[in-house]
Amino acid sequence: MARLVFFCTDATLDCTDSVYGNSFDEILLNLQEHAIAHHAYSNEDASGEDQVAYWRTAITASARQRRTLLVILRDESPLILAMTTIAALVALLVFVVVSLVNL
Ligand SMILES: [Zn+2]
Repeated sequence: MARLVFFCTDATLDCTDSVYGNSFDEILLNLQEHAIAHHAYSNEDASGEDQVAYWRTAITASARQRRTLLVILRDESPLILAMTTIAALVALLVFVVVSLVNL
């Protein structure tokens, strides 16, 4: 399972923290806890319907803008995950071969 990252600065203005999770929902949950711990949100504020909707939009927009694991955020199907993994392995293999050729 891929580890996803969300930069808090994409949801609020003045914060350099990041929130991690293994899925979209886990990122959202960790973002709620982060907001309560570090941004003085109450439990009610952090779980409010409008707030959650805003964060969902922010997480999606952040992934799109930063191109970080957008595919996995959109669709967590095993096929997509397998293809992403294979693409990463092929890229690594090409890198290793190019490095060896240049020695
Ligand atoms: Zn923050």
